[in-house]
Amino acid sequence: MAYDLVTVSAILCEIMRKELDKPLDKPADFTGPYASGDTPITVNIAAKLGAKTAVIGSVGPDPFGKCFKAQMVSSGVDVSMVKDIPGASTGCAFVCYYSDGSRDFLYHSRHAAAGMTHAEDLDMEKLQGTKWFHLTGYNMSVSKSLQETCYRIVDELPEGSRISFDPNIRPESLSVEEVRELCRPVIEKASIIFPSKTEAALFTGCATDEEGCRLWADQGKLVVLKNGSEGCIIYQGNEKIPVPSFQVEEVDPTGAGDTFCGAFLTALIEGKPLSECGRFACAAGAMSVRKQGPMEGAPSRAELEAFLKAHS
Ligand code: ATP
Ligand code: MG
Repeated sequence: MAYDLVTVSAILCEIMRKELDKPLDKPADFTGPYASGDTPITVNIAAKLGAKTAVIGSVGPDPFGKCFKAQMVSSGVDVSMVKDIPGASTGCAFVCYYSDGSRDFLYHSRHAAAGMTHAEDLDMEKLQGTKWFHLTGYNMSVSKSLQETCYRIVDELPEGSRISFDPNIRPESLSVEEVRELCRPVIEKASIIFPSKTEAALFTGCATDEEGCRLWADQGKLVVLKNGSEGCIIYQGNEKIPVPSFQVEEVDPTGAGDTFCGAFLTALIEGKPLSECGRFACAAGAMSVRKQGPMEGAPSRAELEAFLKAHS
């Protein structure tokens, strides 16, 4: 059976500080592990909302790998293309938050199982009929073999499949210039791009996000600018559709953007009009920041619909 949404991922478990303003170079308490990685968050929410999804990636034969797979399976994500790498450890990320809203990440991914997915591991036969492949700049920056896996998807894109791209720049991994260059082949083929604040300007070299988004829209791409607590702006051709956000209490902002993308793509697959896709995704993004942990706040379909109804 063909998938709605498949992603290539640097699979991680996330371990975060319990309190604000505890930098990663000093002893203090952590909580976790939580299943994570940017694109697993995307397929996790899409599966919870009813899409048929799968994740491609690698874990080690250890408790973190087990934690990751259990989370995916409980949401309905197909993990049959997640490879166990003997002798490798599952990737992880340590995160701390500061009172000004900024955060620091420390990744163990490049030399962990997360970076050991290979292009030749792809089962292109199994991927025939997939509606969307979701790829990100972060994953492209983890390792050469993960890049090559993403390039193979783009080069051998099954008939009728489309590419969704989220820049998701993590400066801890590679410089903006390096990521931009690595992502060029993916962006060229992308039908939809989901930049966060500053990423459209950084990726296109334009002076502002607005100009960057318009440039991509002129190239025929659907562009959805994620604007944090302000909601999102959708660009298609000459059209610009601003979608307001929902007011919530933010507990943990990590993963909002990835959740947003999963909900938007699910709505798009269901044939909803663009403004409704935006509203659906803004609701999912807002709900996701209310709980600690990258996927803990991800709503079920019934929860999301109840939230939308309560806010209409
Ligand atoms: P990340 O990379 O950490 O996953 P991002 O920068 O890609 O995040 P954001 O713009 O922060 O993505 O969030 C995505 C969407 O989630 C926003 O467009 C908005 O609709 C919703 N959202 C995020 N934070 C909030 C918030 N504090 N209140 C309400 N909605 C929010
Ligand atoms: Mg992002």
